[in-house]
Amino acid sequence: MGARPLLNRSLAGMGTTIFAEMSALAAATGSINLGQGFPDTDGPEEVREAAVRALREGRGNQYPPGPGVPELRLAIAEHQYRFYGLTVDPDTEVLVTAGATEAIAAALLALLEPGDEVIAFEPFYDSYAACIAMAGAVRVPLTLRAPAFRPDLDELRSLITPRTRLLLINTPHNPTGTVLTPEELAAIAELACEHDLLVVTDEVYEHLVFTGAHHPLAALPGMRERTVAISSAGKTFSFTGWKVGWVTGAPELVAAVRTAKQYLTYVSAGPFQYAVAEALRLPDAYYADFRADLRRKRDLLTEGLAEAGFRVFEPQGTYFVTTDITPLGEKDGVEFCRALPGRCGVVAIPNAVFYDRTELGLSQVRFAFCKRESVLREAVERLRRL
Ligand SMILES: *Cc1c(COP(=O)(O)O)cnc(C)c1O
Repeated sequence: MGARPLLNRSLAGMGTTIFAEMSALAAATGSINLGQGFPDTDGPEEVREAAVRALREGRGNQYPPGPGVPELRLAIAEHQYRFYGLTVDPDTEVLVTAGATEAIAAALLALLEPGDEVIAFEPFYDSYAACIAMAGAVRVPLTLRAPAFRPDLDELRSLITPRTRLLLINTPHNPTGTVLTPEELAAIAELACEHDLLVVTDEVYEHLVFTGAHHPLAALPGMRERTVAISSAGKTFSFTGWKVGWVTGAPELVAAVRTAKQYLTYVSAGPFQYAVAEALRLPDAYYADFRADLRRKRDLLTEGLAEAGFRVFEPQGTYFVTTDITPLGEKDGVEFCRALPGRCGVVAIPNAVFYDRTELGLSQVRFAFCKRESVLREAVERLRRL
């Protein structure tokens, strides 16, 4: 095959993710896996049953419509109105995708030209770097710095250049748990309007906010026509394997994203789309109970981590907590996470993998708390051995 590398250069260095390495380590050592963020119990029984019913009744077993089944698009539009007072047209302003992951990929591939600059919060969710690179664009990190992990809005202003095309905003933020305040959102919106930037928002943790509230950027003045909002059912309903996500936004933006999306998967998850339509219509009590349950789990794990000697940065949202291992006499999170299963039978993820400038997150380690209470209690017990 000659000397030319097989892998496209935009993906060079993006081999197997740390999640694969750590999950393999968890399996090999019988450790409790607080690394990858997936719940260890399924979502509501009635939603599972809705999927079974759709499958049996032959709804969605063949290619669903490209933009998503009408029932789900309507349910998404109703959800946007119910929780945020946003009116979106289910026919022209909603697109169903293969999880938020495909929505992010399709949005970036559709909206970016090679050389465009994209500003995103560092530490980054891992697919952002890959998708920006596949679009030939350049990522420009705005670092959320410990201990508060707030965006520095003066720094954001200073990062904007004539080549800046898009802001990629993740709130609630994985892995730090930062939830942007109305003031921060207003400042970001103002900069986007002033510099005529597009905005892609990753809101997959919209229903997992413990402090404050989630506010969509698209609701702010001047933002509707420039914002592609992304969410998904995986985190909200604890069905991460179904991969049902969606995009909402102005018709031109949704049409652009759909153009890229149709050549990625075309369509996906037919029967699950009907089930997610029912899930979105669950009563307020479902959303409130889910949040309260995760908040209890957050408190259980954060208290346990603090007692075990970690510095804990309490998350305002998501189901992750970022810690610092310096008080344990440790410096390197990657080494620490590789050794942790052997030392006490727990797996975590080093935040360094979410940074371009790894030195900025070297001593940070992320734990997921979307696990059964008994599992979290056992993990806390084990971590005390450190
Ligand atoms: C989990 C996650 C996603 C991916 O969502 P899917 O619907 O599973 O594709 C996207 N963004 C963030 C920040 C996530 O944590």
